[in-house]
Amino acid sequence: MTTIEHGVAGGISFALTDEQKSLRELAREFAEKEIRPRAASYDETSQHPADVIAKAHELGLMNVHVPEEYGGLGLPCFDGMLIGEELNWGCSGIGTSLVANGLGSAPVIIAGSDDQKRRWLPQLIEEPILCSFGLTEPGAGSDVASMKSTAVRNGDEYVLNGSKTFITNAGHAAWTVVFAKTDPSKGHKGISAFVVPMETDGVTI
Ligand SMILES: Cc1cc2nc3c(=O)[nH]c(=O)nc-3n(C[C@H](O)[C@H](O)[C@H](O)COP(=O)(O)OP(=O)(O)OC[C@H]3O[C@@H](n4cnc5c(N)ncnc54)[C@H](O)[C@@H]3O)c2cc1C
Repeated sequence: MTTIEHGVAGGISFALTDEQKSLRELAREFAEKEIRPRAASYDETSQHPADVIAKAHELGLMNVHVPEEYGGLGLPCFDGMLIGEELNWGCSGIGTSLVANGLGSAPVIIAGSDDQKRRWLPQLIEEPILCSFGLTEPGAGSDVASMKSTAVRNGDEYVLNGSKTFITNAGHAAWTVVFAKTDPSKGHKGISAFVVPMETDGVTI
């Protein structure tokens, strides 16, 4: 039988590659064996799934978008989605926690300098550490440009002030990309992103 997955002669094939199928199966099996049996109790006790994160990291199910030159697999968005879909079938809370390194590292991958990429990306591959993406504020969700956080240059440093909310994994992250206004007169064009190690003086959760 000809299906969309198998493609039609002369048409576009939407079939997954063998590698994509293997990734999806790996994520499905992980969700079934490692996530689903624990999900309810983690939910009831509000426990952060550090052990599940460590296992997913060991299997290569995290940080899949980190480019190969920085130690990752350099997989495209679609492949990450295949993995994320299965992990979130296991549990949407644990799944979100597992895929959020993709969000946290994206600004560094997209806009970081080579030095910044070398400093922040390989460590995600080497150890099961977390990073997060600090955009949303108590008064700025969809309307990002209304954020109040500021970053003011002071010599060679920037001084950041502000509050963020709903930041996935922030309480367990090694570093967070924090968005703050460097030029409030420019609206959304006056926002910059800073990698902030969570042990920096002045960071409170
Ligand atoms: C599970 C989870 C994880 C998250 N993780 C992160 C994270 O890691 N980092 C981070 O920065 N943020 C994170 N967020 C925050 C998320 O990005 C925000 O919740 C989102 O941007 C929406 O903002 P808000 O909740 O303030 O809702 P609002 O922006 O106040 O929106 C409320 C409602 O109004 C609607 N609405 C808003 N503006 C308009 C408009 N102009 N016209 C019509 N309708 C409109 C929206 O569609 C929505 O239904 C997370 C949120 C959740 C739920």
